[in-house]
Amino acid sequence: GREQKVEANVLLLGAENVGKSALTVRFLTRRFIGEYGDIESIYSHCDKIDGREICFNIWDSLCPQNTKSNDPGYITDQQLEWTDGFILVYSICDRASFNVVQKQVQWIRQAKAKISAPIIIVGNKRDLQHRRAVSSEEGRLLALSADCGFFEISAAETYHGVLVVFHELFDLIRESRVPK
Ligand code: GDP
Ligand code: MG
Repeated sequence: GREQKVEANVLLLGAENVGKSALTVRFLTRRFIGEYGDIESIYSHCDKIDGREICFNIWDSLCPQNTKSNDPGYITDQQLEWTDGFILVYSICDRASFNVVQKQVQWIRQAKAKISAPIIIVGNKRDLQHRRAVSSEEGRLLALSADCGFFEISAAETYHGVLVVFHELFDLIRESRVPK
């Protein structure tokens, strides 16, 4: 039969400098550039997964500029409304960035709208083991406690890890759409 085209809105969140743009550009182009600047943008990228055409709209956000709140977990209602699936990124060498992800998980889980939108937590910069400040175990436990997916990756080193994150999120989004 004719396969339906599926769209998924993915929001990347996390503190500054954790690699959100690196991850996005890796997924879009398979490349790592090194410097990305501070551009907030929504990118569209279509791909075939399991023979099905899937179009990701990827919102590479800037960290909350505290327009309304001093809470580092603050996510706008517009973002919550738009998003089908979240990727929350921290750097394994930046403890503060892990704390931001913790707050953002809480924020999403407490938001009333779209409670079922899946979340994947990503510990990025796995290549910088010598500067590690957050253990894999902590990341895994946070994900477990809030029913999120979890991966440690290096956007700098490989395309594969980034691809796995998006495919896993897509699977979770698909499951969340199955009528119960
Ligand atoms: P953003 O502010 O979250 O969008 O972070 P960027 O994507 O701009 O990345 C911030 C800095 O971290 C840049 O200098 C990147 O080159 C670097 N970076 C991103 N991902 C990795 C990674 O996996 N490993 C290493 N070593 N550096 C990375
Ligand atoms: Mg960026």
